[in-house]
Amino acid sequence: ESSAIEPTEVSVQPDVRVLGAREHNLQDVSLSVPRDATVVFTGVSGSGKSSLAFGTLYAESQRRYLESVAPYARRLIDQAGVPDVDSITGVPPAVALQQQRGGGNARSTVGSITTLSSLVRMLYSRAGDYPDAQPILYSDDFSANTVQGACPECHGIGRVYTVNEQQMVPDPSLTIRERAIASWPTAWHGHQLRDILVALGYDVDVPWQDLPRKDRDWILYTDETPFVPVHSRLTLAESKAAIEAGEEPSYSGTFVGARRYILDTFANTKSASMKRRVAQFLTAATCPVCHGKRLKPEALSVTFEGFDIAEFSQLSLRELVTTLSGVIARMEEQESVSSGAASPRAAREERIDGGGSPQASASDVRPTMRPSPQKRAAAVELASGVLRRLRPLVDLGLGYLSLSRTTPTLSGGELQRLRLATQLSSDLFGVVYVLDEPSAGLHPQDVTALLGILDGLKGRGNSLFVVEHSVAVMRHADWLVDIGPGAGERGGRVLYSGPTEGLADVKESVTRGYLFGGRGLPLRTPREVRSWLRLENVTRNNLHDISVDIPLGAFTAVTGVSGAGKSSLVSQVLPSLLGDHLGGVVPVEDGPISDESLLADAPERLDGRIVGPVTGVRRLVAIDQRPIGRTPRSNVATYTGLFDHVRRRFADTPEARSRGYKPGRFSFNVAGGRCPTCEGEGSVMVELLFLPSVYTECPDCHGARYKASTLEVTWRGRTVADVLSMSVEEANLFFVDDEEITRSLTALSDVGLDYLRLGQPATELSGGEAQRVKLATELQRAQRGDTLYVLDEPTSGLHCADTDRLVAHLQTLVDAGNTVVAAELDMRVIAVADHVIDLGPGAGDAGGTVVAAGTPGYVADNGVGASAGYLAAAMQ
Ligand code: ADP
Ligand code: ADP
Ligand code: ZN
Ligand code: ZN
Repeated sequence: ESSAIEPTEVSVQPDVRVLGAREHNLQDVSLSVPRDATVVFTGVSGSGKSSLAFGTLYAESQRRYLESVAPYARRLIDQAGVPDVDSITGVPPAVALQQQRGGGNARSTVGSITTLSSLVRMLYSRAGDYPDAQPILYSDDFSANTVQGACPECHGIGRVYTVNEQQMVPDPSLTIRERAIASWPTAWHGHQLRDILVALGYDVDVPWQDLPRKDRDWILYTDETPFVPVHSRLTLAESKAAIEAGEEPSYSGTFVGARRYILDTFANTKSASMKRRVAQFLTAATCPVCHGKRLKPEALSVTFEGFDIAEFSQLSLRELVTTLSGVIARMEEQESVSSGAASPRAAREERIDGGGSPQASASDVRPTMRPSPQKRAAAVELASGVLRRLRPLVDLGLGYLSLSRTTPTLSGGELQRLRLATQLSSDLFGVVYVLDEPSAGLHPQDVTALLGILDGLKGRGNSLFVVEHSVAVMRHADWLVDIGPGAGERGGRVLYSGPTEGLADVKESVTRGYLFGGRGLPLRTPREVRSWLRLENVTRNNLHDISVDIPLGAFTAVTGVSGAGKSSLVSQVLPSLLGDHLGGVVPVEDGPISDESLLADAPERLDGRIVGPVTGVRRLVAIDQRPIGRTPRSNVATYTGLFDHVRRRFADTPEARSRGYKPGRFSFNVAGGRCPTCEGEGSVMVELLFLPSVYTECPDCHGARYKASTLEVTWRGRTVADVLSMSVEEANLFFVDDEEITRSLTALSDVGLDYLRLGQPATELSGGEAQRVKLATELQRAQRGDTLYVLDEPTSGLHCADTDRLVAHLQTLVDAGNTVVAAELDMRVIAVADHVIDLGPGAGDAGGTVVAAGTPGYVADNGVGASAGYLAAAMQ
């Protein structure tokens, strides 16, 4: 600003200038922000931060980029999303790192996201130790996702599914007609299979146990699929008679053996309920050939530092750093030995057989061939490459992960940091990184490392646009853009754009109070605890045989650095142990069940027990961050159940009655009233060659999801599509006197979701939003006062002001006699809990113990553990 140069003389525009942005709720905003700086966008949830940073700035940069590389895609891009803005100048090419929405692919892992897996495969291919006479393998031979690498027995799945007679035929005293084969389909298909057996000459009217062994085995296990003419519903004798009499068969049908039916259905069905049904007859066992390692034997015979590639991928990233640093040091030493520079002692101690770690004792040294200089060079180069990419991951506090960890088991924050660290090892510069709450899931201690990483990206000549709620990140900004003041229509204005300190003068800003003023949540005296839930011998992930006491009728915050074991305790151990004790968890979730969860043979151990009585808890509700549905067909309105009422209101209108429209007519999930082109999705997917597929608005209903005739019915002047596009807040006004509907809406607004549109697809919700939708769904029910609620980082993704509202709500739950146990990282929230459990001291194997437990005041004063200092500061 204070530059002496006249702006008109500068040919290169130094700033990013936005004129007239109107995306979503943005109210024709104009602003300019610096390049090569860290710009942080703040504001309450729903104020319009993402609409500006992602919806406008990133979208425009992306659009220009796509236009330049793919002119033919222009039309589609125009349809898919041209931001509503008059002009943007000076925006560099953008890379967006958004939190993962939705579940994530079970086959993708830490290794594949970071692309480290492909480097490691190359390392094994070129620098691995091969058994004598085994030819060198290609990189692809080390991938379980390729035909050439996969274990031939389990096809790279690591498990084999088996069926046994006892499961398929639980009651052998029944006849086939009496449904002895319980695993067979019900209804007509089951009858058909029975009739085919009759046609094939089997007696279906004798008890299963009296059939000859040979017949039983054939019926259950055959892979033959004979196609035969059938006379319906006859006994064996009647059927024989019919055939002899030359009666016309009813039809011809194909037989499928019972095992084959189960395996085929499990593998191919698109119906979650069918899948669930057949899964109960399957047993999953670790593959006997690869022992769950998923690779063919040749690939597993190759080792590096004594590990096969599957074992290597299970080491923590931190262990990998140690191992690889050791390898490089040793190889370099050998290099200097071969060039005659090193001492004889070093030559004697070198070990080349790969059979141990560098720190192993000299007695395991076996005299073997030293690797060729080429192999040594390859090892050094590839190991250095892996190492260089590992460092930022470890710096970002992810050293406890392994390459083989699958993405569905990672939190949104962990995933985003993985992507962030991956970007750091790319050599991009001159781009703008647009980030969505990179501090999510981070303990204050880890935020410091994050800030270092962001500075590193900026230092390499990049710009950063960061949507954030963390006050620490705001303080670190070069430039702050505060949007608001409220959510939805009450937001969408730029309240401030400038250096952080300047926000102090903006009275309208909600953010200002948290950045410069008080703590928001008033400190309170912890509740008296009358009874405790005691868990002993708790063992799960990095928790090893620990004991934990949880107060009942109180609010407990479980904290600790990322990877300390909070989720393991709160989301895994507690629901499992207490669920068993109470006879079942009430899982608040829906959507199709994954193969994994269906057939979980509990690969990870979960141990522990409840000691003593559990008083006053009859019900356990676990509210996690898993998506509320995996298809765009599930949304806030359907999930909370309020849409059922809405559809009934529409069906009750005189217009609907006169047309004979029932509530189902107003559903976009069943045929009838919905748009047949997009089948009620409102959008259609267009596949682009070489580019990610694009969803574009449905050409027929233009996103409305319904047939024109359905939309001719209105209630209070609005169509059902109009209702779906209302925000919770708007709907609350629209349905103001309708208690059945406003009960859900009020619960949603209580958890800070005023800004969500009712029809917003579940797939677009962040993990935190999904969790809050579940919480609201639970809150709208009558309160019973004997429930234990388990929450995993409920405040992640929330502005401080929204956090305060949510916490106030959790406190009323506790006041009503319930118990709340939450994994939590926001020290302001922890400060107002009744009881704090600080796990740690570090992450992964360096964590997993209770370092401090007690009232917030006690934990803060006690001074041990990563949280004490931050908690003490929050209690000032
Ligand atoms: P923030 O990032 O500050 O939480 P958003 O930019 O996501 O806020 O949302 C701002 C407003 O725009 C909200 O009222 C929200 O409901 C609305 N909105 C967000 N996404 C869409 C969308 N795809 N279509 C229409 N409205 C949207
Ligand atoms: P926090 O919630 O404190 O961030 P977690 O409980 O998620 O920590 O993780 C604690 C440790 O357990 C970490 O070392 C993590 O890698 C490990 N872990 C968590 N979930 C799994 C899993 N599904 N499989 C294997 N290890 C896991
Ligand atoms: Zn196998
Ligand atoms: Zn349509």
